Amino acid sequence: MTSQETIFSKIIRREIPADIVYEDDLALAFRDINPQAPVHILVIPKQPIAKLADAESEDHKLMGHLLLTVKRVAEEAGLSNGYRVVINNGNDGGQTVDHLHLHILGGRFMKWPPG
Ligand code: AMP
Repeated sequence: MTSQETIFSKIIRREIPADIVYEDDLALAFRDINPQAPVHILVIPKQPIAKLADAESEDHKLMGHLLLTVKRVAEEAGLSNGYRVVINNGNDGGQTVDHLHLHILGGRFMKWPPG
């Protein structure tokens, strides 16, 4: 299932501002507006996939690209001491924006388990 119009679609189209740190043909990365760590960046596909559970097998290259984008963006953000990658999926996952996004959280030690 593709996502409906979300705030992230507007960020992709530059209709609302965001602190964009990386962009290519397939992905966009920007700083979270409500950071939960000293570094909190979201990586999203430009293709409007609503959530991880909606990704299809034909999306496998895109999904791999998103993970490699996380790696690249984290390196560029200076997170050489490690970081956490989170995908909230659906209601129980705590997802609030229906456009797939990977959280990069870093700059402090991350406890486990998350809440
Ligand atoms: P989730 O709870 O996994 O769906 O995460 C959605 C994230 O999007 C939250 O961490 C929000 O702070 C973030 N967010 C919502 N609106 C914006 C925005 N306009 N710019 C940047 N981040 C946003």
